[in-house]
Amino acid sequence: MMTQFWTSTPLDNMTPEQWESLCDGCGKCCLNKIIDDDTDKLYYTNAACHLLDDESCSCRQYPDRFTYVPECTAITPDNIAELTWLPDSCAYRRLHVGKGLPSWHPLITGSKDAMHAAGISVQGKTVNEMKVKYLEDCIVLWPMLDIE
Ligand code: SF4
Ligand code: SF4
Repeated sequence: MMTQFWTSTPLDNMTPEQWESLCDGCGKCCLNKIIDDDTDKLYYTNAACHLLDDESCSCRQYPDRFTYVPECTAITPDNIAELTWLPDSCAYRRLHVGKGLPSWHPLITGSKDAMHAAGISVQGKTVNEMKVKYLEDCIVLWPMLDIE
């Protein structure tokens, strides 16, 4: 049985491999967001980065993503506290705020199937940002879903 390293290792003591494995691969961080200038409220849209694969929910150019999308954000132990726009279901966010990993997480189940089945991932729900005229028309609430 796999050691549940995330229950005993603080985020800033994890190896790069452990840190990377925490990502559930939901793809929600690859959705465009809008911040209302007047209220500072954050809205998610279903308009995904053009490099996101809507079926696998993975980045098509992950190792070289900054070459293609310089504004893509690397999530690290140093900046996780500032990345308040990450969805509540995000494993990094959850561990940062003192929650554990949910039962559907791939590190616990061994695959992304339970996550997709629970409706947590972006699978089949996005539009390519390149095809979107007005981002405001793409505002959706489902990325905020966190079922545990
Ligand atoms: S939202 Fe968090 S867990 Fe989901 S893909 Fe992005 S970094 Fe990984
Ligand atoms: S470049 Fe890749 S990881 Fe970055 S937002 Fe786009 S799809 Fe996501």
